[in-house]
Amino acid sequence: MAEKVVIIGSGPAAWTAAIYAARANLQPLVFEGATTDENRLKGTLPLGQLNLTTEVENYPGLPTGDTREYLRTALPEDRQPYWVQANKPQRSHGMEGPEMMELMRQQAVNFETRIITDDIVQVDLQRHPFRLTSLAGQAVETLAVIIATGARANYLGLPSEDRFKNKGVSACATCDGALPRFRNQPVVVIGGGDTAVEESTHLAKFASVVHMVHRRDQLRASKIMQQRALDNPKIQIKWNRVLEEVLGNDQQGVTGVRLKSTVDKNTEELPATGLFLAIGHTPNTDFLGGQVKLDKQGYILWTQPQRTFTSVEGVFAAGDVADSYYRQAVTAAGSGCMAAIDVERWLAEKGL
Ligand code: NAP
Repeated sequence: MAEKVVIIGSGPAAWTAAIYAARANLQPLVFEGATTDENRLKGTLPLGQLNLTTEVENYPGLPTGDTREYLRTALPEDRQPYWVQANKPQRSHGMEGPEMMELMRQQAVNFETRIITDDIVQVDLQRHPFRLTSLAGQAVETLAVIIATGARANYLGLPSEDRFKNKGVSACATCDGALPRFRNQPVVVIGGGDTAVEESTHLAKFASVVHMVHRRDQLRASKIMQQRALDNPKIQIKWNRVLEEVLGNDQQGVTGVRLKSTVDKNTEELPATGLFLAIGHTPNTDFLGGQVKLDKQGYILWTQPQRTFTSVEGVFAAGDVADSYYRQAVTAAGSGCMAAIDVERWLAEKGL
C-alpha cells in the first residue's frame, strides 16, 4: 500500500514536517539520508547543515543555559551528546546545532514517525502514487512527497582544492577547525559573507592567524558580523583577492595558498595549513532528475506565494532546498510546518 506522505531530508524543515504530519495522523516516513563517505565529503550527511555547526544563538526558545538535564531526559541514551554520556562539562552555554537536530528528530520519533537512514536517489513523479527509490534499492510508493533535502556548501572547483580535500581543505570550519593540524598555525578562509565571518571567528580560537580572503573591497556579511571580524585581532582580511592555487604535498597536505589580485596582476603566496571555503551553497536537487521546476541556481520553485506547492501536484518543498534567501533554521522549520499542513489539506481535498 502506498504511504500517505514521504519526507526526504533530515534538517529542521524535515523534522518539523514530520512532527506536524504525524500529529495529523498521516504516519510519515522520513528518508533521513545515508551515512556514506560520499555524503560526508559533500556535506550531506543525515541531520543536515545544523549538524555541522556549533552554538545556535538565534533559534527562539533555546536561550543560553545549562542543557545537560534536558538532553539527558529528552534523548535516548545512545543518541545523547558524548559530553552528557561521559559526564564531562557542557561544551558551550547554549544549544549546539547537532544537539538541536537530535531533539527535533526525537520529537518526530515521539509521535511515531518512521525513519529510514538512506538517500532517495531516484524519483518517478510522472505517475501517481509517486515512486521513490533509495540508494540501497528500496522502492516506496507514496501519495504525497515533502522535499526537504536542504543545500550543501560550495567549493571553487580548482584541481588543487580537490587534491587536498580532507588534507587541509574543508568547507566546514566548525566541524574541522579544532583538528591538531590547524592549532597555532595560519589558516585561510575564502568568502565575505556571514558564513566566512562565522568560520573565521571560530578558527581564530585555534589558529595563529586567520586570513579571510574576499574578492571585493566590501564584506557581504551583516553589520554585526562584519564588526566581529574587524574587531578580532587574529583575523586579517585580504581584500580584492581570489584563490589561484592551493599549495601542498602528499605528506603534509596543505602548506599554503597562492592568491591573485582582482584589481591588478599581482599574486602572493601565504603559508597556511588549512583552507576553508565559505562561498555559498548549492541546493540538493540533483536526484529529482529535472521533474520538478527549479530556479537558475537549482532551488525548487514554489508555484504559489505563501504555499509550499511545487510544479508537480502532490509534491511539496520546504526549507533551504526551496529558499535561497533566508536560509535560517527557524524559517526552514516554519516552512516544514507549512508543507505538512499543505499535504494534509491537499490529501483531504483530493479524497486520498
Ligand atoms: P553568501 O551570503 O552568499 O556569501 C557568499 C560569499 O562568498 C560572498 O562574500 C561572495 O562574494 C563569496 N563568493 C561566492 N562565490 C565566490 C567565488 N567563486 N569566489 C570567491 N568568492 C566567492 O553566503 P553565506 O555567507 O553562506 O550566507 C548564506 C546565508 O546564511 C545568508 O543569508 C547569511 O546571512 C546566513 N548566515 C547567517 C549567519 C548568522 O547570522 N550567524 C551565519 C551564517 C550564514 P561577493 O560578496 O562578492 O558576492
